[in-house]
Amino acid sequence: MQKERLKKYAELIVKCGLNVQEGQEIIVRCGLDQPEFITMVVEECYKRGAARVKMEWLHMPITKLNYLYRTEETLSEVTEVEIAEWERRLKKSTCILFIDSDDPDGLSGTDSGKISRSDMARFPIIKPYRDALENKYQWCIAAVPGKEWAHKVFPDLPIDEAMEKMWEAILSTARVDSDPIKAWDEHNKNLAKRCKFLNDYKFASLEYKSANGTDFKVGLNPKGMFHGGGEYTLGTNVYFNPNIPSEEVFTSPMRGLAEGKVVATKPLSYQGKLIENFWVRFEGGKAVEVYAEKNMDVLEKMISMDEGAAYLGECALIAHDSPINNTGILFYSTLFDENASCHLAFGRGFNECLEGFENMTVEECQKAGINSSMIHVDFMIGSEDMSIVGVTKEGERVTIFKDGNWAI
Ligand code: ZN
Repeated sequence: MQKERLKKYAELIVKCGLNVQEGQEIIVRCGLDQPEFITMVVEECYKRGAARVKMEWLHMPITKLNYLYRTEETLSEVTEVEIAEWERRLKKSTCILFIDSDDPDGLSGTDSGKISRSDMARFPIIKPYRDALENKYQWCIAAVPGKEWAHKVFPDLPIDEAMEKMWEAILSTARVDSDPIKAWDEHNKNLAKRCKFLNDYKFASLEYKSANGTDFKVGLNPKGMFHGGGEYTLGTNVYFNPNIPSEEVFTSPMRGLAEGKVVATKPLSYQGKLIENFWVRFEGGKAVEVYAEKNMDVLEKMISMDEGAAYLGECALIAHDSPINNTGILFYSTLFDENASCHLAFGRGFNECLEGFENMTVEECQKAGINSSMIHVDFMIGSEDMSIVGVTKEGERVTIFKDGNWAI
């Protein structure tokens, strides 16, 4: 891959993704797959005036060893060092950059019950920090190719070719062409227009239908707002793009209002395992029945992690005719696959999707219908024939999606 193009990508991540501010601290969390590229990113951070860049290198085979060999007790522990780290993040409003290259099957063979239980044990200790930091710092998730991931996506190609193809897919979907920053400005404007249309209508519900069996209705929050593309940090008002790539316009639905069946249209990678060919039936906002051809136990465990895990935290609209879907590639990665297709998410909702959230406590947001959970897991339901109708409080019906694409 040409160095110049990679440099543009590193610049895009730091300027447009994180929008690093003079004097800020940054944590970069990434795998060992692309150290040269990560070095470019770190240099870009310093050029933008970062005060300190802290690396957190992860290696999936070692993460797997931790899950295999460590006891549930040690996995559940939140150490003094971690607490100190959270305290520092709070004090410094540290930016966080995730650069993903993980093997989608990298944790297969581990005990998902043990992982879930230890996550559950850690959650109450971490939650106050997470709540206090919510929307107050810039963060960004972007991706680089890893060998195992490339092999999973292109199993028939020699590894060098597969890696090259992954780079091309990642860079083209991130709009890294002649002027990526300008391309993102335009893209963000387009997403903002769609949000405005939906927000002006104030739909009470959305009705989804597809020939694959999806027949589903979700209630929206009367104070809900759709967002898409870049967002602003609370207090400091820094504009950043949390996902590169991003194609979605999304909101948090009203907790308790979801009825009917949704059929997933892509497999879901969760805790390093692939849940395949599955559907979910909702009643009173809650997933009351699930089925999966593969890894159904992982799906069942996931939605019983806590009380909110079986409720919805997000519904996102993405055209079937999207740059990511048009690559024809199944990435086995939520960052890409969630931006290829309309999706829902189990678990935690987004407080910033509520009008006036700036002046509300986390508890008030939850009372107003934003779901709370330790998990937030997207699953894809968009299809080429999907129709979505928005219904207003007065009963007016507006076609929002027709044949899988935006109708507005
Ligand atoms: Zn989403």
